Amino acid sequence: SAMRQPQNEGLLSYGPGSPEKAELKKKLQELQKREIEIPLIIGGKEVRTGKMGECIIPHKKDHILAKYHMAGEKEITMAIEAAHQAKDEWERMPWEHRASVFLRAAELLSGPWRSTLNAATMLGQSKTAHQAEIDSACELIDFLRFNAYYLSQIIEEQPNSTQDSWNRLQYRPLEGFVFAVTPFNFTAIGGNLPTAPAIVGNTVVWKPASTAVYSNYFVMKLLQEAGLPDGVINFVPGSGSKVGNMVLDDPALAGIHFTGSTQVFGDIWRKVAGNLRQYKAYPRIVGETGGKNFVLAHDSADVGALATGLVRGAFEYQGQKCSAASRAYIPQSIWPSVKERLLDDVASIKMGDVENFSNFMSAVIDGNAFRSIRSFIDYAQESPEAEILCGGQSDDREGYFIRPTVIVTTNPRFRTMEEEIFGPVLTVYVYPDQEFEKTVAQCTETSPYGLTGAVFARDRRVVCNLEKQLNHAASNFYINDKPTGAVVGQQPFGGSRASGTNDKAGSKLNLYRWINPRTIKENL
Ligand code: NAP
Repeated sequence: SAMRQPQNEGLLSYGPGSPEKAELKKKLQELQKREIEIPLIIGGKEVRTGKMGECIIPHKKDHILAKYHMAGEKEITMAIEAAHQAKDEWERMPWEHRASVFLRAAELLSGPWRSTLNAATMLGQSKTAHQAEIDSACELIDFLRFNAYYLSQIIEEQPNSTQDSWNRLQYRPLEGFVFAVTPFNFTAIGGNLPTAPAIVGNTVVWKPASTAVYSNYFVMKLLQEAGLPDGVINFVPGSGSKVGNMVLDDPALAGIHFTGSTQVFGDIWRKVAGNLRQYKAYPRIVGETGGKNFVLAHDSADVGALATGLVRGAFEYQGQKCSAASRAYIPQSIWPSVKERLLDDVASIKMGDVENFSNFMSAVIDGNAFRSIRSFIDYAQESPEAEILCGGQSDDREGYFIRPTVIVTTNPRFRTMEEEIFGPVLTVYVYPDQEFEKTVAQCTETSPYGLTGAVFARDRRVVCNLEKQLNHAASNFYINDKPTGAVVGQQPFGGSRASGTNDKAGSKLNLYRWINPRTIKENL
C-alpha cells in the first residue's frame, strides 16, 4: 500500500560552534589532504582506462582533488551491456525492494554521509556550506524519499473493472536502458537523474558533468553502499559528445534523462531524430535546460522584499542556478530606493574560499565559464545602451572569481536581457511606470525561455493579472519571492519553451515518463 508522505529533510545551520560545522570542517580538510583516483563503475566493478581527466577546486584552481578515468568506446559498450545484464532481475524485483535501496541511501546521506557529500560539493563545485546543504544533503535526500513515495502511489492507480472483466495496469519500466546526462550545478540533480528512472525498474548509463565528477562519484559510492545491485546504474565519466554520441546510437536506448544547456539538449534531440528508425521504441526524452529568468516589479512592490529577492536570486551560487534571476524590470518610481538597497547589499557581499563560512559567494565553475561571463560584462561595459551599476571586476589568478555585477540598460532587448549568462550578472531595465502593460508583454514575448520568474506587487488585482498574462513565461512562477530555491514535494520543478520538456523533477509527473504501462483485460 502507498507509503506515508515523507517530511522534507531539515536544514542544518552550520552556525558558529555547531557540531555539524566542526564535522564539515574536518571533512573539508580530509578531502583536500589527498588526491584520489576515480574509476568508472560498470556492472558494480571499478574500471580504469588510463585516459585521465582532472577535478580541481574552482576557487583554488591549482589544487587537484582527483584524477578520473574517462570512458572510451570499449567502456561505453561495457556500460550498456551491464545495464542490459542487470535489467531482468531489477525489473522483476518487487518495487518495495527497489525503493528500499534508495530510502536507505537517503538515510545514510541524512546521517554519516552528509558531511562527506557536502564537503565534496563545496570543494568540487565551489558551493558555500549553505548552498551545499540545500543541494547535496536536503534536496538529494528529498528526491530519494519522495520518488519512493510517489512510486508507491502510482502503483495503486488502477482502471475500472466490471463484474465479468478484470482490468489491470502493469507499471513496467521502459524496454531498454535509460541514459542519464547530468549538469555540474546541482549534486542533487546528478543523483536524481539516474535514480528516478531506476526506482521504477529501469537500468541506467550515467554520464556526469566533467566539472562535477568529484561529488557525483561520492553519490555513486553512496548508492553502492546502500545496496544498489551491480549494473543498475553505471557511472561513466568522459567527454560529453563522445559518450553522448555513442550511447545515443545504441538501438536499445529507451529514454534520456537530461539536465544541462539548451544547446546540448538540441544536439541530443537531433541525434535521436536521425537515429529513430534503428531504435526498438521511441526513446522517452526528458530534458531540463537553460533559462533567462525574470523578476518583474510593479510600483506597489515591497522594496525590501524585492531587493532581497534580486540579490539572493541573482547571486547565490554565483548565479549558476538554472533558476537564477538574471533580468529585472523595475518601475522608475521605486528604482531610486531599489537601487540604493541593491548597492548596499551587493557591496557587503563577501566572496572567497568556501572554508570561510561567512563568505556568501565563491568562484564560478571553470575557466570557460569565467571567460564567457567576462565577455558579457565586457560587452555591457562597451555599450552605450548599458551601464555597470556595481561589480564588473574579476580575478582568475587563484580561482575563477567574478564579483556580483548589476548592469542597468535602457534597452529591454539588450543582449544581457535575452541570453543566458549563467554567472553572477543581473541586468535591470528601468521602465516608465505608465508603460507597465507594455513591459509585461515584453517580459513574456522577448524570451525564448520559460523556466522561472517572479513578480513583486502588493496590489492583488495586479498579481492576479500578472499570473494570467505571464502564463507561459515561467513554469515555476513566484509571487513576492525570489525565483530560486524550489523544494521537492512543495514546488515541483521544471521549465517549458526552450527551458525544457517540463517533466517536473521530484514529482509523480516525472516518474510516469519512465514507465511503459501495460493494460491487461481478463474475462471472468
Ligand atoms: P552542459 O554543458 O549542457 O552539460 C550538461 C551535460 O551534458 C554534461 O554532462 C555534459 O558533459 C553533457 N554533454 C555535453 N555535450 C554532450 C553531447 N553532445 N551529448 C550528450 N551529452 C553531452 O550544461 P552544464 O554547464 O553542466 O549546466 C549548465 C546548464 O544547465 C545551464 O544552461 C542551466 O540552465 C542548465 N540547467 C537546467 C536546469 C533545469 O532544471 N532546467 C537545472 C540545472 C541546470 P561534459 O561536462 O563532459 O561536457
